[in-house]
This record gives sequence, structure tokens and C-alpha cells, in this order.
Amino acid sequence: VRAAISDKEGLLCMITDPVDEALLARAPQLKIVSNFGVGFNNIDIDAATRKGVLVTNTPGVLTDATADLAMALVLAMGRRVVEADRHTRGGHFKFWAPFYFLGNEITGKTLGILGMGRIGAAVARRATGFDMTITYHNRTRLSAEAEREMGVRYLDLETLLHQSDYLSIHVPLTPETHHLIGARELALMKPTAFLINTARGPVVDELALLGALQAGRLAGAGLDVYENEPQLTDGLAALNNVILLPHVGSATVETRRRMAALAVENLLAGLEGRTPPNCLNCQQLKGA
Ligand code: NAP
Repeated sequence: VRAAISDKEGLLCMITDPVDEALLARAPQLKIVSNFGVGFNNIDIDAATRKGVLVTNTPGVLTDATADLAMALVLAMGRRVVEADRHTRGGHFKFWAPFYFLGNEITGKTLGILGMGRIGAAVARRATGFDMTITYHNRTRLSAEAEREMGVRYLDLETLLHQSDYLSIHVPLTPETHHLIGARELALMKPTAFLINTARGPVVDELALLGALQAGRLAGAGLDVYENEPQLTDGLAALNNVILLPHVGSATVETRRRMAALAVENLLAGLEGRTPPNCLNCQQLKGA
């Protein structure tokens, strides 16, 4: 990207491409950065705004796919699906027994949603079907009407952590959410609880998570994202009570088609001087 950008007016980039001040400085003609993803922590929006460059993302079209994956991790962690598959594949299934591979019930358990935005709400809709008690934490509480309609209860972060049987993380990665879940927060969780992260790795202090899992202070973790992606913290892969996915939250054929179409739509609008449908800094640029 660095080598090719100097004469380009538009950039359609992946969430793995850091678009920082240094890259922007090499692109004097750039009008728009269209991110292929909803999370935009790879882009320095302030630097782009200072240079008059539009920034867009692809919200909404990947909500259901990512929520499905979060729910898949809830179910798979609770019922030890991956661990049991490894066991069976390894030729260890000899006979049925009443106490064999006991898991944790999903029905009736408390799901804590950290970040009740588009994806968090879609997870809540799915969890309703499993008769879960659904609690959430945001900086901004939803309206009483929205809470009633969705069947969700607001809690402060500490109480959310304390009460959740399954904690599912859906906040964006920002300076404020970096290590939002660290050793102190993990210690507030029940030792029988599971942590599910399909948001961004650095929201969780991965070393602290490893420590909690190794010490049995947490029942398990289902992770799609990592603090230093694609690297895993040493020791994580050796644990039986973790499921480790390679950042595939939105990876379905249908969703990737929609993301591509939206990213291109945003890009073309920016190149043609129109307001892109998913502009992240148009307000600031208009105000400037
Ligand atoms: P969204 O609609 O913007 O929702 C984010 C929610 O987080 C909002 O409800 C927001 O509410 C809350 N939040 C933000 N900062 C917070 C804080 N400091 N403390 C507590 N809550 C906070 O975003 P979305 O579309 O649901 O996507 C969420 C994230 O999922 C994306 O940013 C992306 O990183 C990740 N993602 C991952 C994959 C994957 O492949 N694994 C796929 C898609 C998305 P308040 O502003 O009121 O706090």
C-alpha cells in the first residue's frame, strides 16, 4: 500500500492495513479511505480529517454473521463441542456414560453483553431463543422502551462481570476500551463463567486472561480475535478450555459479498464527490 499510494485518489483497505499519519503523508491526492470492515481502529481518523480525507466503513451488513459466530462460541464453549470433537477424532470415544463430557447448560443462564450496539443487539435476539437472562453494559443506557422490547437489563460493568455466566464482548477498540477487561475485571467474574470475544483482541488483556484460565479462575474462553493478531499469547493454545478461531466473525460468502459491495459504493461516492453512505468523518469535515 505504501509503495502504491502516492498517486491514488481512493484506497479500499482491509482492517489489517494501518492507515496512519505516515501513510497519509505519502498520499497527497487521496480523497477517501474505504475500510472493508465495521471496526476502524486501523485508521487514524483524526489524521485523515486533518488532511480532508473521507473515511468510511461497512456497518450493518456483517451484524448477523458476527452475532451468529458469537452465539456459536457460547454454545460450543458451554457444551465443549470442540474439545469433544477432538476427543472423538482421537479415537477416545469408547462408550456412553452418564457423567461423560458434562457441559454447562445454556438455557436459563445469564448472558452479559458488553457493548449493546448492532452486533450486541443481534446476539441478544439470538439468546432470547435460548431463554437466557440478557444483561448489558454500554456507556449510554438504552431507552426504557428499547430495553423492554429487547428484553434486556442494564448493569454497570462490575455487576455485569459479576453476574454473567457467559460474557460476550462487542465494543469497538478505542483508547478507552483497550484492556477494558484486565486482571481486575476477570477477577470479578464467576469461576464458572465463559468469556467470548468476537470484537477486537486488545479489548482483553490476553496475558491476564491466560493467567485466569490457567489458575481455574475462569471456566473458559471462546476467542475470534487476539491482542497481537495473528500471534497467540504463549500457553493459550495448550489449554483445553479455549476455542481459538482465526478472526472469522464476518466470514460468510453472503456477508463478504455485501461488505465488498458497500465498500465499493462508499469508495465510488467519495471519488465522485458525493457523500458516502457510511461516512465516519463527514460531519467533522463539513464543520472544518
Ligand atoms: P456498534 O453498533 O458501534 O456497537 C458498539 C457498542 O459498544 C455501542 O453500543 C457502544 O455504546 C458500546 N461502547 C463503545 N465504547 C464503549 C465503552 N467504552 N464501554 C462500554 N460500551 C462501549 O458496533 P458493531 O457494529 O456492533 O461492531 C462492534 C465491533 O465488533 C466493531 O467495532 C468491530 O471491532 C467488531 N467486529 C468484529 C468482527 C469479527 O470478525 N470478529 C466482525 C464485525 C465487527 P456506547 O457508545 O453507548 O458506549
